[in-house]
Amino acid sequence: MTVPFLDLRRETEELRSELRAALEATLDESRFVHGEAVAAFERGFAEFCGARHCVGVGSGTDALAIALRAAGVGPGDEVITAANTCIPTVAGISASGATPVLADVDRHSLTLDASSVADAISPRTRALMPVHLYGRRVELGPLVTLAHENGLRIVEDAAQAHGVVDVVDVAAFSFYPTKNLGALGDAGAIVTSDADTAERARLLREYGGGTERAGQSRLDTVQAAVLSVKLSHVPRWNARRRELAAHYSDALGGTPLGLPPEGPQAHHLYVVRSGERDALRRRLSERGVETLVHYDRAVHHHSAWAELARPGLDESERAAAEVLSLPLYPQLTDDEAETVIEAVLSG
Ligand SMILES: *Cc1c(COP(=O)(O)O)cnc(C)c1O
Repeated sequence: MTVPFLDLRRETEELRSELRAALEATLDESRFVHGEAVAAFERGFAEFCGARHCVGVGSGTDALAIALRAAGVGPGDEVITAANTCIPTVAGISASGATPVLADVDRHSLTLDASSVADAISPRTRALMPVHLYGRRVELGPLVTLAHENGLRIVEDAAQAHGVVDVVDVAAFSFYPTKNLGALGDAGAIVTSDADTAERARLLREYGGGTERAGQSRLDTVQAAVLSVKLSHVPRWNARRRELAAHYSDALGGTPLGLPPEGPQAHHLYVVRSGERDALRRRLSERGVETLVHYDRAVHHHSAWAELARPGLDESERAAAEVLSLPLYPQLTDDEAETVIEAVLSG
């Protein structure tokens, strides 16, 4: 048996008739920008997040940039984020006009380490951007304390964490097709309970409304209709992710692998750690199990971002050499999960 890392056709098949009805309704109405479908999804997603407002935009990267600007962050400001994140996090910060500053992550959670963040704070720091990487909920308490002490906003990169984030200030989501909630293309959203931040994000997604200069990044009506269909399945899908993750962790508990921490998570990715990561990856591949690496280098080890290098990013650098993502998504079958486990245990 071969186990693909992700087969999105299964999700599409599961929902084909519901999706077709949503697409037909959009065609019937032929209103392709704004409209009730967008408003309905925004209401539904805000409620799902336990927040007051949701502003749909064109992508997760746009959501990060607009969330920052809506929070009052821009040129000349610094935003501290995790050195082990993917490029879109720092691309979003840059697109807001601000400068990303990297901090290190905790060895076990692989999310922002508060003491490293404290070291990175400068007089120009305006915001912290914790990344709920792999769907692991960042422990925000210490970061909220730092933010209060230093007058900073907290803008969360929640692109991988649908369903586990309690938005403290403002959060940005991606609905890239492979995310826990994915569109049939690109989409994203800003979520906040602060009415001013939401209002400003609404202006910023459409040219800035004349009071400030901005581009255009709307959530398409057709994507909003699709997302509303899929949103109703996310609680069940996330429960299946939890079940698979618990099964992996039970089965792999006796191995030398570093396993994901316990606790509330969206399980976007099931990431293990190994000092012999590349050999493990080859062995799994020979047994038909497809894996990926998220991510194979720290942000500052990409040439375009090399100037973000700072001392003290060791855990992020070490993680890049050791992390391996095993197949985990709601439609993965029990048999496929067994094949993955047997392949890992075969070494
Ligand atoms: C997917 C992702 C993004 C960017 O989202 P897009 O919709 O692809 O622009 C940002 N941050 C993280 C952590 C992501 O996983």
